[in-house]
Amino acid sequence: MIEKDTHLSSILCVSGSLSKMATSPEDEHPMKAFGQLETTLGTSLPSTSPEGEEDVRFKVLYSGLCHSDLHHLPSCARIRYMLTNFNGHLEWHEIVGVVTEVGSKVNNFKVGDKVGVGHTCSQYHDGTICYGGYSDTMVANEHYVLHIPDNMPLDVGAPLLCAGITVYSSLRYFGLSEPGMHVIVGLGGLGHLAVKFAKAFGCKVTVISTSPRKKKEAIEHLGADTFLVSRDADQMQAAMGTMDGIIDTVSAIHLLLPLINLLKSHGKLVMLGIPDQPPELPIFPLLMGMTMQEGRLAGSAAGGLKETQEMIDFAAKHNIRPEIEVISMNYVNTAMERLAKGDVKYRFVIDIENTLAATKP
Ligand code: NAP
Repeated sequence: MIEKDTHLSSILCVSGSLSKMATSPEDEHPMKAFGQLETTLGTSLPSTSPEGEEDVRFKVLYSGLCHSDLHHLPSCARIRYMLTNFNGHLEWHEIVGVVTEVGSKVNNFKVGDKVGVGHTCSQYHDGTICYGGYSDTMVANEHYVLHIPDNMPLDVGAPLLCAGITVYSSLRYFGLSEPGMHVIVGLGGLGHLAVKFAKAFGCKVTVISTSPRKKKEAIEHLGADTFLVSRDADQMQAAMGTMDGIIDTVSAIHLLLPLINLLKSHGKLVMLGIPDQPPELPIFPLLMGMTMQEGRLAGSAAGGLKETQEMIDFAAKHNIRPEIEVISMNYVNTAMERLAKGDVKYRFVIDIENTLAATKP
């Protein structure tokens, strides 16, 4: 096991100066990417995937940071961020840029198009490792590439590719995009977009947050109708039995009973957050308040590609814009510390292009 440096200070040029096994799939690709790795893992070289007939190559400009990135790390290494759990891969998430090259059979994209990839998997089909979004160029089969409309700035659009589709898909799939009274629990990266989408669908939205700190902004800026502080028992009591659905985006372990109590009969509690430990599930209130009347307790993860494009287009049309703080790659460790404390409004987006341009030899 390698003890990793705690800083993401090393920017490596990967144009082929380090020796690799001749049989490595990466060696067969003429074009190399330039990206950021943690210092002690410098021998893992980012290179690009092959240019197949259906491939799209794009210049990476921005990449988002999600609370899931924190969950992926072992607790002892939370701030030793990149590469710890990805076998040397660069990051994989909310990646946006501009098309620079397309394969001969690509129909839906042309050079200059604004595009994004939601998540990358760890290997291309020929075995090439995919190093993700912290590099200057990326290749993907066009099937996995999404159009970002011209009126959506790329940095702002990045969080739609994970946070956006996760909340959009759950609101739609569970019938919570119909006008009704809904609750969004947790006002972070996912939560603030859930408020915006639910309002655009015509729902009444109550935000539940751990403190009154975000109340003014939730109502005046994000458009929520009401605001409850989860630690205020009187407020929670007064709202019992009033909600059609709850989108729970809380990243930490928390009590479900106060949330179930808020639901009407037929109500739906949809879990999106991924606490480190399983929550306690109170069965009797669940039976009496929900399932007896065909209510549902469910979970939901991200969404499909067709629906993701639909969501991006919906956001562009309805002026739904993620609230972001743009950072450089060198700030990622600090950003992760701040994310763990809930100190971001509401999503960090990394400026890949300018960070790499400043460090390229
Ligand atoms: P985030 O920006 O850090 O927001 C999480 C929110 O959870 C915080 O803003 C906070 O809301 C609330 N919270 C934190 N600790 C809490 C506690 N002890 N009790 C009650 N509320 C608490 O995170 P995010 O990026 O939106 O992600 C949210 C969760 O969704 C994470 O677990 C992430 O891994 C998961 N996720 C799931 C999917 C999926 O496909 N299902 C996709 C992406 C992310 P307040 O500040 O308002 O109290």
